[in-house]
Amino acid sequence: MAQVEDVALAAVGPPQDIVGLGAPDFRGTEERRRIQVPLDAPLESEPAGRFVDRDAPVHADHVAARGVGIAQRALELALRYSQERKTFGKPIAQHQAIQFKLADMAMETEVARTIVYRAAGAYGQEGGETSDEVRRLAAMCKLYASEASKRAADQAVQIHGGYGFMEDYPVARYWRDVKVNEIGEGTSEVQRMLIARSLGLPVE
Ligand SMILES: Cc1cc2nc3c(=O)[nH]c(=O)nc-3n(C[C@H](O)[C@H](O)[C@H](O)COP(=O)(O)OP(=O)(O)OC[C@H]3O[C@@H](n4cnc5c(N)ncnc54)[C@H](O)[C@@H]3O)c2cc1C
Repeated sequence: MAQVEDVALAAVGPPQDIVGLGAPDFRGTEERRRIQVPLDAPLESEPAGRFVDRDAPVHADHVAARGVGIAQRALELALRYSQERKTFGKPIAQHQAIQFKLADMAMETEVARTIVYRAAGAYGQEGGETSDEVRRLAAMCKLYASEASKRAADQAVQIHGGYGFMEDYPVARYWRDVKVNEIGEGTSEVQRMLIARSLGLPVE
């Protein structure tokens, strides 16, 4: 039997307001219980610890891909706005400080996209879903894409100046939405632990 700790089985309690994600109806308190499931539990059985464990890289890749999407759109909107908004007699896109932000956003978005494709490709290999390499790449792409997309959204708001902080401009929403990617499906700290473990380091 494999022990799965603190599995959230149900969401109970009053609805919670959340910072981003369009504020769906989130419940405040999770009911957590320690459960035991057989390692060979069929996927259909509920709860199935093996399913949770085996699919962790998929969920990580999914979050990473979401991050790439946000980063890409943040870049596009920031680029467009920077070509429209003028200060000191020229579009802000002609100020080197803005160009450097856009260059970093483009670079980090491309790196994030590349590692997501690499992780997804590894998962697609035969037996990939259980390999250590898939777990390592999933942790790396989730961690990198989450943090890179947060930086991209933040810089997009910055490039929009005051308008970036207003609901009329979608970059404000991306800025709020993107943060959760560093928390859900394994926090950034957990991803770093997984990467450290893949290096053969003892991880608590
Ligand atoms: C909008 C939203 C939607 C969610 N949806 C779901 C869902 O659908 N299903 C679900 O199961 N959960 C869901 N969650 C819960 C989410 O998965 C957890 O919030 C997340 O895993 C972190 O767990 P925690 O909140 O208990 O934080 P904690 O475990 O209390 O962690 C707090 C901080 O301590 C750090 N930390 C903890 N342990 C260690 C350690 N050993 N070493 C170093 N640092 C450590 C964490 O990385 C974090 O920074 C959702 C959360 C949010 C915000």
